[in-house]
Amino acid sequence: MHFTGVLAGAAAVCARLIVGAAASASAHSAQQMNVLSLVMLMCRYPLVKEYPNPAPRGTRGGGAETRPCELRYASAMRWVTGLMSLSVAVLAAAPARAAWVDRTEAIMGTRVYVQLWADDSDNGNAAIEAVMKEMRRIDSLMSHYKPDSQLSRINQRAGYEPVQVDPELFDLIKLSTHFSEITLGAFDITYASVGYLYNYPLHVHPTEEQIKAALPGVDWRNLEFDAVHHTIRFGHPGMRIDLGGIAKGYAVDRGVAILKAGGIQHALVTAGGDSRLLGDRLGRPWLVSIAHPDEPHNPDKVVTRIPLSDAAVSTSGDYERYFDEDGVRYHHIIDPHTGHSANRVRSATIIGPTATQTDGLSKTAFVLGPEKTLELINRMPEFDAVLVTPTGRLLYSNGLRPPKPRPPGAPPPDSRRAPPEH
Ligand code: ADP
Ligand code: MG
Repeated sequence: MHFTGVLAGAAAVCARLIVGAAASASAHSAQQMNVLSLVMLMCRYPLVKEYPNPAPRGTRGGGAETRPCELRYASAMRWVTGLMSLSVAVLAAAPARAAWVDRTEAIMGTRVYVQLWADDSDNGNAAIEAVMKEMRRIDSLMSHYKPDSQLSRINQRAGYEPVQVDPELFDLIKLSTHFSEITLGAFDITYASVGYLYNYPLHVHPTEEQIKAALPGVDWRNLEFDAVHHTIRFGHPGMRIDLGGIAKGYAVDRGVAILKAGGIQHALVTAGGDSRLLGDRLGRPWLVSIAHPDEPHNPDKVVTRIPLSDAAVSTSGDYERYFDEDGVRYHHIIDPHTGHSANRVRSATIIGPTATQTDGLSKTAFVLGPEKTLELINRMPEFDAVLVTPTGRLLYSNGLRPPKPRPPGAPPPDSRRAPPEH
């Protein structure tokens, strides 16, 4: 990961990502300009040469019936027709041009966006289609909305018997328990044992009694794995799992792997709050904006902007799926210990090497709170965090903070100490 420094830090509440796409527009228009100027140049030069001034009446062409302006018109039209055919031929024979290409689709219940630099736009579009296809595949394997997905089959059967699944899904569920372990249970895919009692669009939340009854089903340590047969079994009644907190990051990483294998070196892949930046934006870093939680769709009101290349970044916010009732915000990040929406921060952004990792960590601050989360992230050298507290404070992990001023008299950072004398 290459972090290039925080550009701006505004007093703010919370955020989502808006990744700079200026390079796309400029490269695109530069390419159009080239084609346009080629055509204009070819058309203009001979016409100007033939008709520097209007010819005197009756001096050009044949008989008295033919008027000079018609002649000029006929001749000019021949030029234009000839030049147009020539332009078409030149353009058809022109070598493919490198270009930024992009596409947005709705997959996994969210917005998926891919932008990349390709040696020609057909290849670029084919690469994007391969990424979208992979995301659709992952969705049909891991979605809990699709009753015939393998994940739904686990939820239907694993309370009664071991359920065999593809190694890929087995591995991701196993990896989820690793994030549960390092986040002290803040990240826990069995949160779904109580999470399914919420319905945000319909403004439904469980009662205290319902939460109390469902909460014993929330504990990642009750997932039983058989690594030989790739089976999963629930060790407690009433358990459910949901990969909504990690599958998008995983899908983004898969997308990037496909692009890399296809020779793409500069790309952005986003699914919901999870993004990965492959390479840079042709010599400049990608500019990742963390949106303001009160106005997450306003690109002019962002919490901060971070230039990044070759990095993954995930933002979780309490403004994504929520409803407010009696002054309480019920949102989609659940504290596995209480069964309530976790509210110790309003937004958490994690930067790291892969989107699976940053996705797995971005829920943590909501549950553990800013202090413990920064402590955790500061112990992980490849990761950084930007948190927005409920009162609007903006907190950065050590890697994003300016270096501390040196105490008076301290040697400059690059000075080498003389070896001790014996
Ligand atoms: P996005 O899905 O847009 O990337 P997040 O990364 O913030 O957003 O993930 C939110 C999702 O994580 C929720 O919709 C839910 O599926 C899941 N989730 C909620 N609470 C937890 C938790 N404590 N542990 C693991 N996953 C959770
Ligand atoms: Mg996510």
